[in-house]
Amino acid sequence: MVQSSLLEPLPTRKRVAVLLPLPFPYPLDYVVPAGLSDSLKPGDVVVVPLGARRETGVVWEQTVLPPELMPPAPPEIASTRLRAVKEKLDLPPVPGALRQFIDWVAAYTLAPPGMVLAMALRSHMRGTQGAPAAGWVRGEEPPASLRMTPARRAVLAALDAGSAPMATGELSEKSGASAAVIRGLADAGVLRSVLMAAPSPFAAPDAGHRLPVLEGEQDFAARELRARVAERAFSVTLLEGVTGSGKTEIYLEAVAECIAAGRQALVLLPEIALSAQWMERFTKRFGARPAVWHSEIGQRARRLTWNACADGSARVVVGARSALFLPFRDLGLVIVDEEHEAIFKQEEGVMYNARDMAIVRARLAGAPAVLVSATPSLETLNNVETGRYRHLVLPSRHGGAAMPETRLIDMREAPPPKGLFLSPVLVEAVRGTLARGEQAMLFLNRRGYAPLTLCRKCGHRMECPNCTSWLVEHRKRRVLCCHYCEYVTPVPEKCPSCEAEHSLTAIGPGIERITEEAASEFPEARVLVMASDTISGPAATAEAVGKISRREVDLIIGTQIVAKGWHFPHLTLVGVVDADLGLGGADLRAGERTMQLLHQVGGRAGRAEAPGEVLLQSFAPDHPVMQALISGDFAAFMAEEAEQRRPGFWPPFGRLAALIISSENADAAQNAARALGRAAPYGDGIEVMGPVPAPLAVLRGRHRQRLLLRTQRTIAVQPILRRWLAEVPLTSAVRVDVDVDPVSF
Ligand code: ADP
Ligand code: ZN
Repeated sequence: MVQSSLLEPLPTRKRVAVLLPLPFPYPLDYVVPAGLSDSLKPGDVVVVPLGARRETGVVWEQTVLPPELMPPAPPEIASTRLRAVKEKLDLPPVPGALRQFIDWVAAYTLAPPGMVLAMALRSHMRGTQGAPAAGWVRGEEPPASLRMTPARRAVLAALDAGSAPMATGELSEKSGASAAVIRGLADAGVLRSVLMAAPSPFAAPDAGHRLPVLEGEQDFAARELRARVAERAFSVTLLEGVTGSGKTEIYLEAVAECIAAGRQALVLLPEIALSAQWMERFTKRFGARPAVWHSEIGQRARRLTWNACADGSARVVVGARSALFLPFRDLGLVIVDEEHEAIFKQEEGVMYNARDMAIVRARLAGAPAVLVSATPSLETLNNVETGRYRHLVLPSRHGGAAMPETRLIDMREAPPPKGLFLSPVLVEAVRGTLARGEQAMLFLNRRGYAPLTLCRKCGHRMECPNCTSWLVEHRKRRVLCCHYCEYVTPVPEKCPSCEAEHSLTAIGPGIERITEEAASEFPEARVLVMASDTISGPAATAEAVGKISRREVDLIIGTQIVAKGWHFPHLTLVGVVDADLGLGGADLRAGERTMQLLHQVGGRAGRAEAPGEVLLQSFAPDHPVMQALISGDFAAFMAEEAEQRRPGFWPPFGRLAALIISSENADAAQNAARALGRAAPYGDGIEVMGPVPAPLAVLRGRHRQRLLLRTQRTIAVQPILRRWLAEVPLTSAVRVDVDVDPVSF
């Protein structure tokens, strides 16, 4: 016989879901203790028990997403088995729009939502030591049971003497009491922790300051963007125009409109290195600096910026992709500058494309998004063509400055002398430019001295022991480096394979080698080398850029960091050492990518009065990319690209997701990949390719296999991926990384 008491309903206890910044598939449930039952709301930051630890998390409420993105519901657990929330922290709550965005990004990328939260809150929670400037104020009156020792009294006196909340350090210093005494008072409720009201360091930009005069297409584009901002509704606009046509000027008009409307604007830039020049320009335009957000800003600045976004005092934020996760109070405009840049895709951890997620963020905020580029991606062009995005075009450079003339140097006909890499035509052109007192730039997208070191006797190639890659010689540092992991080794005296002495030879050029060659060709020239390993961080970049602007440099030799949106008024010649680099390999977007990069590099030339020239050294001058660069007809090139991708349902005409299966054990990776391959989804418009060894078949000691899922555009990949992954149990020796919309493969 069943005992009747078991059938009685359980006493209902109030419960909440708490999302922890950990890789669980969903938020965990907790019960709310009596003391908190009325005050906990979604977004509140709380401390909860987890095993033997305490963790900080956020009270959560699953966002309603489109059905295809909805994650499976977490299992129901009886309240009696749940543990209780420990405390609610006195931190600004995570706003609803940000919580929705986190759920969206997690559902779209199939990342655990907690990992997206972790990314968003890196500066916000992390226990109390990372909390935004917490300070102490008076709490309850000391209870009679609490013995008021002299130290305790000193603490309260110090606090009463000051006018603002005091951090533990300051309070301890002023009262002479230890941190333990302060903690004891807090535990007794006599002290209460609050957020320190730090004055916002972000002066409100003046929207009316120093207006540029806009005419014709510029004026039209600016009016359109201002109208989008004024609508206070979601829309996406592509702002397209050649380098120097005034795109930045125009979108700053939209920013001004947004500030004037009292809302916040977010500008995403691909390279924070750019911010020095960008900031200067912004500051001139608005008479105040924007808030800046990227991985290199310090913990204090992070906290201030986080809070200033939440309370609305940061009116404009310029940042890298992670700025999307700031808790804007009233986001009114999202701009993605250089929207075609692959760097917007985060390739580790949560693999999301900030360009695409910026649009989601704007939609959730009910704000317009503006994508900006001289060479928009095929994805974006396709969205324009199908009417999803609006389109604004600035056809010519501002002030009548001509586009640089682009010419090809056929390396088959006019090769450089043996062992050198600059053709006589390029050398002459640089010499002429320098003789006229103008600046020249040599571009090669490869760091180090040489990409391959080979034994002349036995043919042995120096390879990375951890990766499928060649070691790159860095001659100044006398080492061989792997550019994919941290492996570094001294250049050996002898060939490690046949032991021949002095037989190791550098094959091919890196920019160190070009610098050496330039030094002998142009001994008088003042040379500046710009690569991510010689110039790192915003300060060093700003200094280098300053030198160029002040004409303290004649010849710039650089990798892709020189290609960014710099404005170098005295630069008139750009020589591309190897225009074919990047066209090899099977990557779907190799052509598009190379065209965009080389156009952008070329765009550095002739931005002021003197006309610019771009010389491309190529062994394949007939290649469509080279022809597009010569003619400047990118629309035709992209139309051709589209026609190649359309029939096979390659993006943007279909959807793509990659599974990267990796393990330290090659067999384990292969077996798991095969098991996934056998369970591959099938159906109309669904296709799975692989498994095959991934590009970089070994990376940091992990063997990697890849499966590619391709579907027609009308079929979402997320539910297919969820079912597929759930079907194949994997051992802990194997990891599967899901990459939805991979940018390169
Ligand atoms: P893009 O972003 O398309 O490369 P910019 O906005 O940087 O172009 O404009 C190129 C240069 O021309 C900048 O120095 C900019 O200040 C200047 N410029 C553009 N439009 C105007 C204008 N209407 N009045 C004055 N200067 C302008
Ligand atoms: Zn390596």
